Amino acid sequence: MHTFSSLLQKQQFSILIEHLTHLAPQPIMPYLAGYPCVMTLADRVHSDDDPAPVASAQHYPSEIEKILHFSGKDRDIKDFQNFLQQAQAEGLKNVLLLTGDKLKSHCFEEHRTRYLESVNAVMAAKAHGGFCIGVAFNPFKYRAAEKQAQYFKLHKKMKAGADYIITQLGYDLNALHELKDFMQQHDDHQPIFVCVMPLTLARAQFMRRAKVAGIVITDHMLAVLEQEKQQGLVDYAERRAALQIRICQHLGFAGVHLSACHQIAAQQRLETYINEYQALSLAKCEALWQQLWQINTGHEFIPDYAYSENQVTRKDYLKYQQLHLMHETVFASKIAKGVGRTLFKAPIWQNKVVARGLVQAEHVSKHSVVGCESCGQCRLAETLYICPETCPKGLANGPCGGTHGDLCEFGDRECIHSVKARLAQAVGQTDQLKQQLIPTVPIEVRGSSSWKNWYLT
Ligand code: SF4
Repeated sequence: MHTFSSLLQKQQFSILIEHLTHLAPQPIMPYLAGYPCVMTLADRVHSDDDPAPVASAQHYPSEIEKILHFSGKDRDIKDFQNFLQQAQAEGLKNVLLLTGDKLKSHCFEEHRTRYLESVNAVMAAKAHGGFCIGVAFNPFKYRAAEKQAQYFKLHKKMKAGADYIITQLGYDLNALHELKDFMQQHDDHQPIFVCVMPLTLARAQFMRRAKVAGIVITDHMLAVLEQEKQQGLVDYAERRAALQIRICQHLGFAGVHLSACHQIAAQQRLETYINEYQALSLAKCEALWQQLWQINTGHEFIPDYAYSENQVTRKDYLKYQQLHLMHETVFASKIAKGVGRTLFKAPIWQNKVVARGLVQAEHVSKHSVVGCESCGQCRLAETLYICPETCPKGLANGPCGGTHGDLCEFGDRECIHSVKARLAQAVGQTDQLKQQLIPTVPIEVRGSSSWKNWYLT
């Protein structure tokens, strides 16, 4: 039986078949159309209470190679450490680390839901050792700042130690070409798996209706799928999936991550079409793809946003400059560090009332300026003075994959990471967003004074 790491080593095009843990275990085929298969176990895709992937893995024979997803939603770094220990104890070495989409029961109030960022999970898994670490990436972004923010974060994921990449589900081949070009330009060789799903009209309509995070279904795509349904072309979803798999192989991707195809009957249907297209060249596959999707202009996969892109204003620029000057003077300089350390070593700060007063003073002075939420580990200097806590998921290292035209997945604000990417261009700090790995904030640090913590650590 093949192992995932041996497939990566041999650079053998493979199919990672996604299984949802709330469903009954399915028979597993070791090969699909001659391609070696590995199963993946998704983490809380159907509901917040889905069985854990580590537990579900026990329902399958040990010789079947598995990749465990770990989603950071509603989790802290300690939860992740536990996950790593459990996986290791079960001999499971392959993980896919995601920040995760919005928790269905996300709480904004006092016990705000926290999200462990994928970058921090990768850092922890790397430090632990012994795991083959995958990360997700969403190349299907169509606004300059949100696309840049995704690529900045991809730099960080690779710097943190990602061994392979799995893309978000998407159908725009131009975006996949762009990803390949990016990897080549940066001399990065992590294998990339493209997420593929046989897209039926019902699935596309569901994803549009439910606003599934980070997935682009355009009006054109819906119109094509509706037309096919009316004409009774029932196998076109599988034909397109088979073609996409063949195109990904031609383009040099490491394989595909196959979603919504866990039943043997569906896999066998897909296999028929993969075999049918086996002899087609890349040019022929792409021509057929364009024909099936009725592509004329090349813009059919690009969403039509009804608003224009924001720009960096003079006010944004000045705010950055002022806060940067203040940080350098009051916090970063040697003199400031020395004075601050002496001041906060005084026994008075051990007094609970005084300590609470300090947290309140910090909150009052920073909340109206940057939206401070008293996280206790100020990261403003690493995030261009845009507080990461103003992201509903509290992400500091970059965006999740769920933005839509610069809008946050939560739909109530512009994504702060798009704002940051734009500002980084304006102030010449893009390297910081690519290179600086920002540690996660442990739960126990929250609610303490970051001023005091800064000077004493
Ligand atoms: S990073 Fe933390 S301490 Fe700094 S402004 Fe944001 S919430 Fe406040």
